[in-house]
Amino acid sequence: MSRPAPAIVILGNGSLDTARRIQQLLPGASVLGLAGRVDGGDRSYSDFGDTLRQLYQQDTPIIALCAAGIVIRTLAPLLLEKGAEPPVLAVAEDASAVVPLLGGLGGVNDLARVIAAGLGIAPAITTSGELRFGTCLLNPPAGYVLADLELGKRFVSDLLAGESVRIEGDAPWLARAQLPESGQARLAIHVGSAERLPVADELLIYSRNVLAQVCAEVSPQSILESLYQAGLARQSLACIVAPETLMASAALRETALELAVPLRFVGSDAALLPVAWCEPGNGVVLGVAAAPLEPETIGRARGRLAVIGLGPGAAELMVPAVKAELARANDVLGYETYVRMAGPFRDDQVMHCTDNREEMQRARHAFELAAQGRSVVVVSSGDPGVFAMAAAVLEALHESVDPQWHSVDLEILPGVSASLATAAQAGAPLGHDFCVMSLSDNLKPWSIIEKRLDLACEADLALAFYNPISRSRPWQLGVALDIVRRHRTPQTPVVLGRDIGRPGQTLRTLTLGELTPEQVDMRTMVLVGSSTTCTFARADGMQWVYTPRWYGEKP
Ligand code: SAH
Repeated sequence: MSRPAPAIVILGNGSLDTARRIQQLLPGASVLGLAGRVDGGDRSYSDFGDTLRQLYQQDTPIIALCAAGIVIRTLAPLLLEKGAEPPVLAVAEDASAVVPLLGGLGGVNDLARVIAAGLGIAPAITTSGELRFGTCLLNPPAGYVLADLELGKRFVSDLLAGESVRIEGDAPWLARAQLPESGQARLAIHVGSAERLPVADELLIYSRNVLAQVCAEVSPQSILESLYQAGLARQSLACIVAPETLMASAALRETALELAVPLRFVGSDAALLPVAWCEPGNGVVLGVAAAPLEPETIGRARGRLAVIGLGPGAAELMVPAVKAELARANDVLGYETYVRMAGPFRDDQVMHCTDNREEMQRARHAFELAAQGRSVVVVSSGDPGVFAMAAAVLEALHESVDPQWHSVDLEILPGVSASLATAAQAGAPLGHDFCVMSLSDNLKPWSIIEKRLDLACEADLALAFYNPISRSRPWQLGVALDIVRRHRTPQTPVVLGRDIGRPGQTLRTLTLGELTPEQVDMRTMVLVGSSTTCTFARADGMQWVYTPRWYGEKP
């Protein structure tokens, strides 16, 4: 499993600048600010200790902009447990010091070096093996994997005790290391892709230079068997390559997931060079390259298109799957206000802001980008399936006969819709059956709206109005309210939520008799109760509104 993106944890606004500079260096990293002290973080937290321990247990790399001692004391209770050990660093809030604390094998020193280089300072590296040899032997660079950690630790202490070492195979990163090399040494560092039994006097490092090319759906077992028959280590497998026609195969996706390697797709005429081929059978052809493979450069990935809901606006109301999706996105498309709300984005992420009305064009553009193998996000506010982009995206796909569009990995990720966010703040006005309607007659005839409204009122459903009014639709809300008043008493509770979950939000509770269209604008959610909806005073002077779960006589 790959590790989550780093969390940059800050306690005050004074650290925000440094935090943002570090964020730019680390793809996907987010800034977590202490609630009430930090404005402008990506997320907020209320308890420093709990947050840090939770991040640690979830294997999230932690960059804490505070004293090293605070971090050590906070995480100390967890250190005796076996389990995740993500990189943990303390960084001085004025960007003058970077101190790697934990996660030596998780690459903490490398992370420290990246951050320090970005901040223009020297990292405080204290690991003796690294200081002596100029590299962490147990943490080889991308493209290589250590075969056995426990044997490796012993190997390094033997080396630190003064033994010399031979290097077998191609280890370019060790050329810059200061190792006590000798051709007659008992200890050897062996780099290669052939399967070997780990032994104590050898530091075995596998090179990820093998690709498995398949032309049909195959199981993980067939790939493992092929590697075994070819005498290659499973750790050497760098990626699986399949024809583009199999892009939508769920079985292949599972296989790649189980073997924890990327899945890449090539056209029928693609030549994969420079590799030597062997064909052990099982529907698998193995290619062995001279150096570690870079899967990102082979063919292309299956493109991904996610239509996401941001929720009403507040970061706490955004579902975690949506946050993860935003972190992996190459391209973000949407109405400018929502794209900004979904940010901040890294320099490598492309924002495509468009006008609110160009939905179909935006949906098609999203497929064009995803079909190139990119990871694309289309943003909506609230839930993407409620008067928003999900339906437009599906309509664009339905209209298309392009097989590339149909093999895109399309997913819709839900969000908290404005009616639900507003209802929650007011109590439970939608606590029983209710009806959700858009009052916009841009895409449907007004007569349909009148009819549905009339029937919904007759059915005594509570009502939630989206798009209640706008400059180009000034009279419709008044007509809608006249229809509602034919069925409901003037005492019927009404909730108006404006900019819920956003800065300057307002929530008002009034009655149908008091409601006028002037109190409503296009950023307002209108909830109208049913005949059973009731209100009572709450301690803070506001009112609770709810619709009981039962109907008629109380059971
Ligand atoms: N997909 C969105 C709705 C888009 S329609 C969702 O699920 O929430 C746009 C309408 O939603 C607006 O006219 C307004 O009526 C309502 N709306 C969206 N966000 C809102 C918010 N934060 N507060 C109140 N109403 C909101």
